[in-house]
Amino acid sequence: MGRYNGPVCRLCRREGMKLFLKGDRCNMAKCPIDTGRPAPGMHGARRSKPSDYSLQLREKQRLKRHFGMQDGQFKVFFQRALRRRGITGDYLLQMLEMRLDNLVYRLGFAPSRRAARQFVLHRHVLVNGRNANIPSMVLKAGDRVGVKDQKQSREAAKRWLDAAEGKTLCPWLGLDRMSFMGEILHIPAREEMVPLVNEQLIVELCSK
Ligand code: SF4
Repeated sequence: MGRYNGPVCRLCRREGMKLFLKGDRCNMAKCPIDTGRPAPGMHGARRSKPSDYSLQLREKQRLKRHFGMQDGQFKVFFQRALRRRGITGDYLLQMLEMRLDNLVYRLGFAPSRRAARQFVLHRHVLVNGRNANIPSMVLKAGDRVGVKDQKQSREAAKRWLDAAEGKTLCPWLGLDRMSFMGEILHIPAREEMVPLVNEQLIVELCSK
């Protein structure tokens, strides 16, 4: 299936929660979730009792849409998490948090994950001092993510860094605003990641 290019607020309405897909505009009062708009479609407002499958599917879609991923790519991440010993759900969330586009967003170099993805694709980002233009690249603790020392790159990043001033940075990330350099201090534990979804339901669904 191709990438979704329609109105992103529709995705939040479908999931019944804020997925923060539009950057700063998600904090404005006219966010459709805050104004109470129902799920899209003719029967969006109708709420019937969801089946177990439906609950699992919704959790998966929430996570996938939150990180702006397509089905195929999500499956690859899940398979990688499944191969590791330990709690699959935790590994899955950790790998998603460690994606380069997510890190660029979390560090404040871009206003949303979608914008961060574009920022990476347009070659504005360095990983450990080297060019990196693969948004789905998974980094590890100790890796450094920076913005290229070019006027265009730094101006774009500075705009969003200034806008994000005062916002709390994730405890597992470090940031030096002056040098436009961020660092992964450690891999986040489950309690350090926002409890966006019930990952156990996703594991049950994807393991079938
Ligand atoms: Fe739209 Fe952002 Fe609100 Fe989602 S959180 S409905 S993307 S404004």
